Amino acid sequence: MAKVETNLIHIGEEFNKTNAVVAPIYQSSTYLANEDIDAYITAATAPKYPEFYHRHGNPTNSQVAAIVANLEKTADALVLSTGMAAISTAILALVKAGDHIIAQHAHYSGTTLFFKQFLIDYGIEITHVDQKDINAFEAAIQSNTKLIYLETPSNPNLDITDLELLGRLGKEKGITTMVDNTFASPINQLPSEFGIDVVIHSATKYLGGHSDLTAGIVCGSKEYIEKVWSRSLVLGATLSPFDSWLLLRGLKTLSLRVRQINENAQQLAEWLERNAAIQHVAYVGLPSHPQHELAKKQMKGFTGMLCIEVVGQSDENAFQNAQRILNNLKIFTNAASLGGVESLVVHPASMWGSHHSAEQKQTSGITKGMLRISVGIEHIDDLIADFDQAIRMI
Ligand SMILES: *Cc1c(COP(=O)(O)O)cnc(C)c1O
Repeated sequence: MAKVETNLIHIGEEFNKTNAVVAPIYQSSTYLANEDIDAYITAATAPKYPEFYHRHGNPTNSQVAAIVANLEKTADALVLSTGMAAISTAILALVKAGDHIIAQHAHYSGTTLFFKQFLIDYGIEITHVDQKDINAFEAAIQSNTKLIYLETPSNPNLDITDLELLGRLGKEKGITTMVDNTFASPINQLPSEFGIDVVIHSATKYLGGHSDLTAGIVCGSKEYIEKVWSRSLVLGATLSPFDSWLLLRGLKTLSLRVRQINENAQQLAEWLERNAAIQHVAYVGLPSHPQHELAKKQMKGFTGMLCIEVVGQSDENAFQNAQRILNNLKIFTNAASLGGVESLVVHPASMWGSHHSAEQKQTSGITKGMLRISVGIEHIDDLIADFDQAIRMI
């Protein structure tokens, strides 16, 4: 078995049937029918068939799925148009009215909306628990629990869920476990190694890595991915040929990018922790993170995501100071999203102002002086110098 760096470049090459070294963009909605009627029936009905009609499959989508399934050590994977398409399609392939889901308090904002404003309207029951409480998940199990939905590290405050514990609990109780692995990336964390059944990515983030596409991926068993594919046929969130090609291109450098990002983020986090203007730094790679030991156990690297709490005499003052830093940063761009080669920073309390109620903000740990940082691959000296000059402005 070749190593990750090699697989990122060579897995799935068989889907490129041309002599071009780089797979072409299959910019076609439909494919010439095979004259052999049996072959045609197979093309029309086989899951993810790459050359029938685009909603069914596409050669590049198949190649990307093969690479990510190999990375995540799952039997199969399905590529979709966004991370939210992956999350919603994956969940709708598992639950129906009358079923129960256990989820966390802290999730990506779109996922929270899907649970609280969508699934409950379709007769699905959801219990939200504290991901840090090792007993909370088991205590929430009901006879109709079909899914335990996890996200670790979670958005935005980087809490960790114990994957080994939940993988074991799911297996013991016969409940499917699903993890949004976007923040960690498969370079840093492999949930399947802990017995987790389904792994999801917003490929818009680290997998694509260049902030130039949206995509999502669901990884799991062959049987389950076929179910997700059949749901995706009617829900219709297919990834376009060009975005898929960009994703394939981005994946080739995933390990290099993530390694550099891990290193930069660690150094920036340590520098920020020593700075008097920063009251608190949440980074899973810092010994001061309350779950650092758990992070070390289940992660191979600590990602480029960190959250800082800016000092202030009051909430309002912390809010102003955070805004001032945000406005004065020159290399870090104030933009939503994460996981790209460029460093980004956002003020979660403003970004999710309309999505989250004050109570939701509190349970998911969003405070007024908080800034969320996605560290890129620029030189670390420049990143630190940028923060240094911005902090001096408050
Ligand atoms: C961005 C993100 C999503 C949603 O992905 P899209 O590609 O924007 O639909 C889901 N989960 C996490 C953790 C994310 O960061």
